Amino acid sequence: MALVPFDDRDGQIWFDGALVPWREAKLHVLSHGLHYASAVFEGERAYAGEIFRLRAHTERLLASARLLGFEIPWTAEQIDAACRQVVAANGLVDAYVRPIAWRGTEQLSVSAQQTRIHLAIATWAWPNLFGDNRMKGVRLDLANWKRPHPETAPTASKAAGLYMIGTLAKHAAEAAGFEDALMLDWRGQVAEATGANVFFVMNGALHTPTPDCFLDGITRRSVMALARRRQMEVVERAILPAEMARATEVFLAGTAAEVTPVRRIGSLEFTPGQVTGTLLRDFEQLVRTAPAEVERTAPI
Ligand code: PMP
Repeated sequence: MALVPFDDRDGQIWFDGALVPWREAKLHVLSHGLHYASAVFEGERAYAGEIFRLRAHTERLLASARLLGFEIPWTAEQIDAACRQVVAANGLVDAYVRPIAWRGTEQLSVSAQQTRIHLAIATWAWPNLFGDNRMKGVRLDLANWKRPHPETAPTASKAAGLYMIGTLAKHAAEAAGFEDALMLDWRGQVAEATGANVFFVMNGALHTPTPDCFLDGITRRSVMALARRRQMEVVERAILPAEMARATEVFLAGTAAEVTPVRRIGSLEFTPGQVTGTLLRDFEQLVRTAPAEVERTAPI
């Protein structure tokens, strides 16, 4: 299938306060965000016209920017409205939404105090990250690249620069015939996949790594709420790679991946089972629930 480049599509993109034709949503090559990775972004999904946990995503976007030392010049209310506007303007109901904020062109040096902050929001139809492979379970290779210490990088920020590690890990996994990589952190503990958090079913309880050096995903927190609603025990803790063999089921959770069963990590095999199936269906139902009801029935 031929890839349609992202700069040559029909539609509209919200750019610094107004909708512009898709092909005209451009920035200059001498943008600070491009050279020095001073950019933060979000990944959201609209289901049946409603963006799932929109306010949580918007708040994380604002917080990600502050962690990189800049303030996005729009309020949470304005960003929420812009996200909804761009989905509607493109005639989409089930869609992926990508807000991104970056430092502009006023200064091109490590110091960037005088740069203007820009915000753009695009949206497109994007079925599940793992496509047709998803339901039979994906295969993860153990990455050589590690999630860094929080004093080495702003790890709580959804910062563009951190994805350099993810792309390297994912390309290595793909070259070895896997769909994605499972990364350890700098201590050697299990961290996350390149764009999703990881869960293990052990003795009927749900175990997931403590997110102290990687993103505490909104999907992750939603899945934990759903599991507790089902009276499952949920354990956040340090998980060592040697423990993974004890898991009876493994799955990923993230906006693009949604809930995706895992059938292999390195040489370990897993069979997608009942817990994964139940939480996957609960999540599919939750994302199509009215926003106020989502906050009431599965608070995160
Ligand atoms: N970790 C990484 C590295 C990610 O890119 C994502 C996707 N944003 C997640 C975890 C999951 O986060 P969320 O559920 O909020 O999409």
